[in-house]
Amino acid sequence: MDSQTLMRLSEQVIAHTYNRFPILPVRGKGTRIWDREGKEYIDFFSGLAVCNLGHCHPRVVRAIQDQAERLIHVSNLYYIEPQIELASLLCQHSFADKVFFCNSGAEANEGALKLARKYAKEKMGQDRYEIITMEHSFHGRTLATLTATGQTKYQKGYAPLMPGFKYVPFDNLEAVRKAIDSKTCAVLLEPIQGEGGVRVPKEGYLKGLREICHEKGILLILDEVQVGMGRTGKLFAYEHENVEPDLLTLAKSLAGGVPIGALLMKEEVARSFEPGDHASTFGGNFLATAAGVAALQAILEEGMLENCQKVGAYFLTKLQGLQNKFNFVADVRGRGLILGMELKIDGAEIVKEMMKRGFLVNCTMNNVLRFLPPLIITEEEVDQMIEALEEVFKKIT
Ligand SMILES: *Cc1c(COP(=O)(O)O)cnc(C)c1O
Repeated sequence: MDSQTLMRLSEQVIAHTYNRFPILPVRGKGTRIWDREGKEYIDFFSGLAVCNLGHCHPRVVRAIQDQAERLIHVSNLYYIEPQIELASLLCQHSFADKVFFCNSGAEANEGALKLARKYAKEKMGQDRYEIITMEHSFHGRTLATLTATGQTKYQKGYAPLMPGFKYVPFDNLEAVRKAIDSKTCAVLLEPIQGEGGVRVPKEGYLKGLREICHEKGILLILDEVQVGMGRTGKLFAYEHENVEPDLLTLAKSLAGGVPIGALLMKEEVARSFEPGDHASTFGGNFLATAAGVAALQAILEEGMLENCQKVGAYFLTKLQGLQNKFNFVADVRGRGLILGMELKIDGAEIVKEMMKRGFLVNCTMNNVLRFLPPLIITEEEVDQMIEALEEVFKKIT
């Protein structure tokens, strides 16, 4: 079947929940992917912050192959060695004492919301169930997580939403303080808002939130589904701010491209989950956790965090360079290798033009170009992308 026919078939048989670009990728290696026609792309999107190690990292590929030959799935009624190994690694390198595994970011957040409610009810009484989340946030597409998501565009058509959520402006401590009442059980937020337009809060914001939550006896939940696993130049984004959450969620890049989700917990909170309270059939299965162990070890052992910091800083100055040249660039921001360029114009056409030139970039909120390259991206590749972007900017003005 030729590519045009395949794409038409896709529109016919796949639910139309995505508008797709006309590319059929078939192969990937490192920072590159190739489509069916053999056209090469440098990937500045990483499958939405999933392929942090680059495509088909050899250690992840080998782990998947080795595991697939031995055992793919049993059940969480039995002990699962790579699951134990991945949880140990995560605990060793984070604030957490215990991990619950699931299969996606939404599911990890769903688990965090359930646990926060259960813990608060047990600790502080039956009326403690309300979760405070942020405007412009993104937490997933299940009914509870899309309710947690502070953007009405994702909620349209799905009423009635889950009760027990309250929204406040991001990066505003006073708003959180005012919103807390006798029903509040937790504050949930992304340390850097991803879908919401790469919004980085002021320094001290997380620390302030930590203090407020501590003072009020409520939980601080960080959604690091997008910014965790090295994306900001540290393994977890909270490390930049010298604070520790009570709960943290991971997914996207945790297993180097294989579906996985995880809820990281402090022991004191984790105790509220007892056998039968929460579960997931595939959660922490052999294949995903074996890939996760390989992915986490590669991030830690192959200098990816250092490269992310170094190339991220370089990339940011290059984007600032473009900001100085083009007056439709409103802002440039980010940390490590999650970078955003806010435009005063629509970004969709720019994304298409970049694709023609062999670069995959993303646009979120209609006007924020978002760059999420693999953590192994080089300064030379950044230069190539910036050169193409400048050419596109000149063309459209
Ligand atoms: C992608 C994302 C999610 C949802 O993850 P899924 O695996 O798509 O369910 C949740 N939170 C954040 C911050 C995300 O970026």
